[in-house]
Amino acid sequence: MTNKTGAIFLDRDGVINENSSEHVKSWSEFRFIPGALESIRRLTNTGMPIFVVTNQAAVNRGLLSVEELNDIHQRMQQAIHQMGGHITQIYHCPHDNHEKCNCRKPAPGMLLQAAREHGIDLSQSFFIGDAWTDIAAGVSVGAHTILLMTGRGRWNFIPSWDRFGLNFAAACDLADAAGMIEDALHGEPMVSTKRFRSAVHMAMHPHELPVL
Ligand SMILES: [Mg+2]
Ligand SMILES: [Zn+2]
Repeated sequence: MTNKTGAIFLDRDGVINENSSEHVKSWSEFRFIPGALESIRRLTNTGMPIFVVTNQAAVNRGLLSVEELNDIHQRMQQAIHQMGGHITQIYHCPHDNHEKCNCRKPAPGMLLQAAREHGIDLSQSFFIGDAWTDIAAGVSVGAHTILLMTGRGRWNFIPSWDRFGLNFAAACDLADAAGMIEDALHGEPMVSTKRFRSAVHMAMHPHELPVL
């Protein structure tokens, strides 16, 4: 018998760093989303292991090498460590749509691999992303799944709602999601009306700040 614990899974682009339509191909193009580093420290302080699961089809499209991707991730880890956070492992899917792999989200392959390799109970885990494909991966493995309004989140709220109904929560940004997880771990409801309204407001008014 193993005593499995939950984990926190984070998408990368649009959650930790700003999305780029040109793809993030080097560290010089990597920009942390304001508050992300502090939020990762808070998530680390929950004691749950943190994994990053990121689609990086740019690799197999020849836009960046695995070495360049690893360099970005090493520097990202350094910055996270300097702020007191820790990511246990980063998983990436290098495949493009046509390769039909089982790791490119919306498929849950990376979550299942992390669960297998680290003895994680996915039903006790959280998954945070900014696209409906993240929500699909999280919901399909029974994790508590949170859509952020950073990155592409504002434009993914309705598509996610359309596909998954009330099976996911919405938060303004990673800090808001960290608060949700802290509340859940203290036995309080993860989703409050105030949080929900703020996230919906951001989805409907993309250029305004949240109403907190
Ligand atoms: Mg993303
Ligand atoms: Zn893949």
